[in-house]
Amino acid sequence: MNILIFLGPAGSGKGTQAQYLKEQFQFAHLSTGDLLRAEVASNSALGQKVKSVIQSGDLVSDDIIIEIIKDRVSSLIKNGDFNGIVFDGFPRTLQQAKSFDHMLTSLNLQLNKAIYFDLTLDESIRRISGRQIDSRNNHVYHKISNPAPADVQPHLVSRNDDEPEKVKHRYMVYQNETEPLISHYDSKLVRIDCMKSIDHIHHTFDDLVQSFQVSA
Ligand code: AMP
Repeated sequence: MNILIFLGPAGSGKGTQAQYLKEQFQFAHLSTGDLLRAEVASNSALGQKVKSVIQSGDLVSDDIIIEIIKDRVSSLIKNGDFNGIVFDGFPRTLQQAKSFDHMLTSLNLQLNKAIYFDLTLDESIRRISGRQIDSRNNHVYHKISNPAPADVQPHLVSRNDDEPEKVKHRYMVYQNETEPLISHYDSKLVRIDCMKSIDHIHHTFDDLVQSFQVSA
């Protein structure tokens, strides 16, 4: 089982590339942001607890996140028919990373690569200000650089934590809490230059997945 984690600020293309791995290589896509938003949308007890934290751009507590991940990973492994799991937006703190290391060891799994999506604050704001999401399946579009087809347009929504001030705050949280993971994953790290085209980055993933299959 291949395990990838995606580290990177808002707008760096983590969701787009995770979707690519899902469609091309049958990876499961596990986005903690999507899971949390689904809890908020269903107004569950957990959703009510985390709603204001998500809206503020701060991080949900490590305990909650680790519990969600444990739940999801065990049900994925039980039911799964896929080549690997992409963890999109998890781990985001050193505490989460350490718990995740233990979890993988206890499941007899190994991290293949930690993918570091490198993007500046200005570019993060520029991209997020045009971001639109298909509410049915969380596909991500951009008003200018990746417009949604006409039949998808009626289903597009924007996230309320995507306002420029909140994106700035999320970027700062990312720098403080998540960037330290770059050295934690040093030997497994692959840096992606997010200024390259989406297709170029797809090819990087083609090569990467190919190298897993060859060494498997
Ligand atoms: P995302 O969709 O990855 O941008 O996540 C949206 C929001 O969900 C974040 O700003 C956090 O409030 C929360 N969140 C998502 N993943 C995590 C995580 N691993 N740890 C803590 N909070 C998270």
